[in-house]
Amino acid sequence: MTFSDLSNQASQFTLLYIEDDLQLQESMKIFFEQFFKSVTLASNGQEGLDRYKETPYDLIVTDIKMPILDGIEMTKQIKKINPKQSIIIFTAFDNTEIYLDIIKLNVDGFILKPFAIEQMKETLNKVLQNLVLENERNAYEEKLKQEVAQKTKELQKQKDELEIIFNTSKDGIAILDLQSNFLNFNDAYLKMTGFTREELLKKSCMELSILEDLPRAKAVFEETLRVGFYENFIRSCKVKGGRVITTNISMALLPNKTQFIISTKDITQAKINEQKLKDHALLIDKNIITSTTDLDGIMTEVSDAFCKASGYTKEELIGQNHSIMRHPDMSDELFKKLWETISQDKIFKAEIKNKKKNGSLYWTDSSIFPIYDTGKKVGYTTIRQLITDKKLIEEISITDGLTNIFNRRHFNTLFPDIINKSKRNNELLCFLMLDIDFFKRYNDTYGHQKGDETLKRVASAIEQTLQRADDYCFRLGGEEFGIIFRVKQKKDALLFANKIRQNIQNLRIEHEKNSIKNVVTVSIGLVSKYVTTEDNQDNLYKEADTKLYQAKERGRNRVVN
Ligand code: GH3
Ligand code: MG
Ligand code: MG
Repeated sequence: MTFSDLSNQASQFTLLYIEDDLQLQESMKIFFEQFFKSVTLASNGQEGLDRYKETPYDLIVTDIKMPILDGIEMTKQIKKINPKQSIIIFTAFDNTEIYLDIIKLNVDGFILKPFAIEQMKETLNKVLQNLVLENERNAYEEKLKQEVAQKTKELQKQKDELEIIFNTSKDGIAILDLQSNFLNFNDAYLKMTGFTREELLKKSCMELSILEDLPRAKAVFEETLRVGFYENFIRSCKVKGGRVITTNISMALLPNKTQFIISTKDITQAKINEQKLKDHALLIDKNIITSTTDLDGIMTEVSDAFCKASGYTKEELIGQNHSIMRHPDMSDELFKKLWETISQDKIFKAEIKNKKKNGSLYWTDSSIFPIYDTGKKVGYTTIRQLITDKKLIEEISITDGLTNIFNRRHFNTLFPDIINKSKRNNELLCFLMLDIDFFKRYNDTYGHQKGDETLKRVASAIEQTLQRADDYCFRLGGEEFGIIFRVKQKKDALLFANKIRQNIQNLRIEHEKNSIKNVVTVSIGLVSKYVTTEDNQDNLYKEADTKLYQAKERGRNRVVN
């Protein structure tokens, strides 16, 4: 034991030193102060006891023989206060009697006077070592106590929280034994099943399964027993009054491995809603011709009904541009308008002619509107109604049955519109009336059927001469045709009318009773003008008719303008 070892150990402790020999007391104080944190002095047992009662000390070194209260008596009293108090007796050994008393006191050390430094150091060291150990043990115990208290607090908190969850959860929570008998459950579980507490305590969770679900329920319990948990087990349960509910169960084996905790959601209504939604979606898919595209017109979704109408499969359509269904008859203008409208987040509605996979056509009445995802436009959905039949009837009603060109009814509809458009745009309007020369004689010579054929050939010759989409040809009646066309200048109108006349003559249909030529010819009355506010269908028609009459008068097979 070195000097510095002792001083290291003692520096954390306080010392009470009791000695009536004041000279010795003074010199020992100097010795002790080298090591201890503090040294308090007392000159007899009573004084020592008083000091001790004021403040506890880590170590007491005391003499035996002292006035007022001797060291033995003082030690006895101190040991009553704290049986573990470390005490060293520092005395001159007088007689055996005292020595026996000292042994009974169960003190920590005994040092004989006169003072021998080595013995003092050795004893102090031994006692201090015990004190250090004792302190460490106390600190450890204290720490342990605190940790246990903390842990207990946490567990209590967890328990409280669990209890709150248990009692306030909207899901039914139950504790089961390994045979699935109910041990405990919350109010939500009772409410869900409709049973009373007493009724449910007599049941097992397995019993609630409908017969068909029983084997699966057993398997789920076994799986939970094996791996510790099972999630989202959907099962139908028979509850109070034989009512059947659909439940979603998640369960776990509790750490004690003798109980299960199960959490059950009643998803009956959700299931019904889900089924309704599915049925609804199916109904839409089957019956509504709908498609969805991204912002560039690439199809992302198509309904069954749409596939049926277009003749494509879903796989063929998804990923394709919508324009693969575009019919060449539909104008660029329409699609320009379409994009303009939907780009401005408006709904576009139109009757659109579409091309099927096999090239045939179908008409739809389409509404195209933008779709959004969380406020951002992501594409367009089109809902269509098939109107092919309606369009066919419409077409029939405006078509001449013999020649397949527009009929007079359609002329009456279109002509006023075209006149108005020409007025608005200040465009040259060209309208001509065409009549076959001596057609009565033709019929008389070749028969009515031949006459019909000739009417057809004349009609198609006219159609072939017309080139622009907004040139129109009508059978106005009998062997009389009306043609509306567009050219830049008046002289071009005359040229065009003569071209028609010439093209019909060029058909070289034999007509021996036509005194002009021996083939079918026509006379034409042509009106070409910048229409004014005074002009209307009647006066323009009359004008053309008059000119036609003049063409007949002047010898037929000619154009009068
Ligand atoms: P013009 O040169 O003065 O026009 O003499 P036209 O005989 O052609 O004139 P008109 O008006 O006297 O006779 C028209 C004839 O056209 C009467 C009719 O026999 C014939 N026609 C009218 N509609 C049809 C039709 O649908 N089929 C046939 N085959 N003939 C028709
Ligand atoms: Mg005629
Ligand atoms: Mg006629």
